[in-house]
Amino acid sequence: MKSMRHCIFHSSCLRLYPLRPRAFTLIEVLCVLAIIGVLAALLLPVLSRVRGQARRTSCVSQLRQIGLATEMYRQDWDELPPHLSRLNETSVRNAQLFVCPSDAERGQYTGNDYIEGKIYLSSGVSYEYFPQWELPRLAGLNWYQSPPNFGPGKWESLTPYVGCAWHWARAFDAGAPTHDSKANGWELILTLGGSVRKIRIEQRLLQFTPEQYG
Ligand SMILES: [Zn+2]
Repeated sequence: MKSMRHCIFHSSCLRLYPLRPRAFTLIEVLCVLAIIGVLAALLLPVLSRVRGQARRTSCVSQLRQIGLATEMYRQDWDELPPHLSRLNETSVRNAQLFVCPSDAERGQYTGNDYIEGKIYLSSGVSYEYFPQWELPRLAGLNWYQSPPNFGPGKWESLTPYVGCAWHWARAFDAGAPTHDSKANGWELILTLGGSVRKIRIEQRLLQFTPEQYG
């Protein structure tokens, strides 16, 4: 007589011999869990690296757009580069442009003379603003006052204009509020000419020359 034990094609057979899924043994379940654990351990660092890289790419793109907005501002107003929140009133529609995706404080940090934070723009500014970095201090001006003329020590289109402090490596600035462990000591810089470059963060800005761009 023909066996119907493994027949799954006829409803009558199923009624006679209902298929029951075989239960997993404990060892099989543990094996599957172990494999999932190993895969997760392998993939998570890759995912976090990819996310970090994506944030860095958006930061570079934002810095370039700030560079374009600055150029438009200077063509319209024939002025030296303004501080960043002023661009928001004139050449930038989306204020989120001023907040780096890696900024753990979402642009609200005001613990540094060079970063506006939320003082003039409630949505915040993550980026540092450099042009005033020598003359106003000597002249007793504050950081928010008009930027100085670009005299000796400045380098036209290669002058550091805006920097992203949120890619600082803590190894070089233990007091930095946050850091990017993949920064490896480099900081992203927007130049006055609109290009995004890198400088070594351990290099003091006052001693910087454009040959040190990475
Ligand atoms: Zn950034």
